[in-house]
Amino acid sequence: MFFNLLALFFKTSRLFVAISAVSIFFGCTTSPHVSHIGDVDSDGYYESLTPLGKKGYFLKQLAPNVYFFSTGTYNNLFVATQEGVVITDPIKGKGDLLKKAIGEITNQPIRFMIYSHSHIDHIGDAHLFASDNVQIVAQVETGKALKKYKDKNRPVPHINFGTNYSLSIGGITLELIYPGEGHDKGNSIIHIPSRKIVMYVDTVTPKSVPFKNFAYTKDIYNQMKSIEKVLKLDFDVYVAGHLHRPGLKKEMREVFSYYRASQKASVEALKRVSFIDVRAKSKTKDIERLFGEYLDTVAEECYRILKPK
Ligand SMILES: [Zn+2]
Repeated sequence: MFFNLLALFFKTSRLFVAISAVSIFFGCTTSPHVSHIGDVDSDGYYESLTPLGKKGYFLKQLAPNVYFFSTGTYNNLFVATQEGVVITDPIKGKGDLLKKAIGEITNQPIRFMIYSHSHIDHIGDAHLFASDNVQIVAQVETGKALKKYKDKNRPVPHINFGTNYSLSIGGITLELIYPGEGHDKGNSIIHIPSRKIVMYVDTVTPKSVPFKNFAYTKDIYNQMKSIEKVLKLDFDVYVAGHLHRPGLKKEMREVFSYYRASQKASVEALKRVSFIDVRAKSKTKDIERLFGEYLDTVAEECYRILKPK
């Protein structure tokens, strides 16, 4: 279908083909002009923040040894065993609360710290957990990014894996899987098969459409393939990095259906919006600005197509 569409455009204008080729499917990843945001009615697809209470965090057992920790908008999981604790993503500014939460469950020392990816909002308190006795594990691209950042709050990993890494401790195994670029380079899936639990951060928050530009994706095609890959894993519950609660597999499917609908809407919007028409209506002679106006028009058309009728 993409090729037919390109062929059609090719007859119209070489310039248009060049422009369309880079923007096909990216129409909906481009946010409409800011001035329109206030005009957008909420369709109710969100979940209200829940009051945190005195403790300042939510702690919930997901399965034997596995615990969900959330500070409302951010979350992670940790695994407590008789041989020590594995933590993931020590959220910036919330490390002391995470220590308290772990203290509610166990006195065992932390042995491993997994970074899902390099972003500071998710791992900015890593320095509070780093010690000679804690092995930090992350995908090699995350390690490379952190070496470059030289941020003392985000110590570099000791174990840098490529596509897969198995971490076993106290009779439980965590499988780390790198599905390739999507939201950041290095963003990895954490799967605990024996507990049917997945952690996959920043791409499929339950009851949420993806954050701006599909979570600032580096590769929308691969990001979708990655979500498909996650959905093929055996799990019931997942931890998304955001929200006060974990999600259900059917909720991941639901968010993914928005990705698919956006892909379809992008193709349709690119058919409907003519670059020639946008150029005819535009006052600018600046080609880059004109291209921006074209993308805004495509994005607005995507919105019209996607909006529930
Ligand atoms: Zn992120």
